[in-house]
Amino acid sequence: MVFRLLLFCFLLPGLATAQTVQNPTATLLHPAAVFDGQTLHPGWAVLVEGQKITAAGPAASLPAPAGARTIELPGLTLMPGLIEGHSHLLLHPYNETSWNDQVLTEPLALRVARATVHAQKTLQAGFTTARDLGTEGAGYADVGLKQAIDEGIIPGPRLLVATRALVATGSYGPHLAAVEDLPQGAQEADGVDNLVRAVREQIGHGADVVKVYADYRWGPGGSAQPTYSVEELTLIVQTARATGRGVVAHASTAEGMRRAVLAGVETIEHGDGGTPEVFKLMKERGVALCPTVAASDAISRYRGWKKGQDPDPQRIIDKHRAVQAARQAGVTLAMGGDVGVFPHGDNALEMELLVQDYGFTPLEVLRQATSGNARIFHLADRGRIAPGLLADLVAVAGDPTQQVQALRQVRLVMKGGVLYRQP
Ligand SMILES: [Zn+2]
Repeated sequence: MVFRLLLFCFLLPGLATAQTVQNPTATLLHPAAVFDGQTLHPGWAVLVEGQKITAAGPAASLPAPAGARTIELPGLTLMPGLIEGHSHLLLHPYNETSWNDQVLTEPLALRVARATVHAQKTLQAGFTTARDLGTEGAGYADVGLKQAIDEGIIPGPRLLVATRALVATGSYGPHLAAVEDLPQGAQEADGVDNLVRAVREQIGHGADVVKVYADYRWGPGGSAQPTYSVEELTLIVQTARATGRGVVAHASTAEGMRRAVLAGVETIEHGDGGTPEVFKLMKERGVALCPTVAASDAISRYRGWKKGQDPDPQRIIDKHRAVQAARQAGVTLAMGGDVGVFPHGDNALEMELLVQDYGFTPLEVLRQATSGNARIFHLADRGRIAPGLLADLVAVAGDPTQQVQALRQVRLVMKGGVLYRQP
């Protein structure tokens, strides 16, 4: 193993692609302003050495060290690489191919080939980290994708992967009445022995986080209903936590959310049916909500909603009510759009909608997508611009703390001190 690691270290530079070959010892970045993950600092500069940020402060106090290259970024704001909180690199938009058909008919190699392009688009859009929450029937392909990115074979964000995710037997999809034993979009497991085993299997295969579906649309008339008991969910959390990993729960019903929160999950994904009582419980237990407003927006549009002309569909009304209730209760929000439902590279849509439709300030969503997500996901080495942290940096035209649209004007992307995009 030691030998393999050494070999890997020597080989890595040779694997870097043409766009990543430059890596001098020091780079001084001179933007118009620096957003450090909390606050905007006009006139600051940032020094990068190797993979890390070594200094940040007023430009006059930061002369370029001998041999350093200087990159002038006039009119641009430099900020920490954005952190996508909820992606599915192995899915593509449902208006191109339905979820069922992606899971049932697309060959694994096709899905992985697409995912490599998705990873590149994500990085080019300024997202240098993504929490990828389930391969949806593509097994452990996310682990291999992460490895290909980490080894420099393909460009992409740093990944936290959930692998297969856990569902209660019979609750998930695809379902076809005439066909038994269809491949499923996640791993079915129930009860004490099976759940412990399934959690450990996923972790053994490389899961960084464990994802569980605490409810799903398996009720009468396709209504969302809880799946696992509190006892089952608690067991999942305890088994994962013993290995230093957290659990995230898909939940859109108040009861599914309540059970997941009581069991000790770290984030709730979606949360559409959350009540003031459930959000109060989330606040008390320090559980964050990842509202995925962009996925609701996209699905509603795919179903014919003409935004701005038609009245809001129930899905959108519910989401507004839930996000407002979560805010009132003081629940911490993670920024994650469920990208894959809508196009990869379009990750900023979640942030735009939170500002334009949900009343957040650009500064609030920018903090969520940087220092906020880093804290919630236990990523102490990123999400801010400060000495000692990873040099994951993005420069955008304009001031994203005032104009959320600036996030669409990405001019520079650096990950671990390596430039993937520059003016
Ligand atoms: Zn999702």
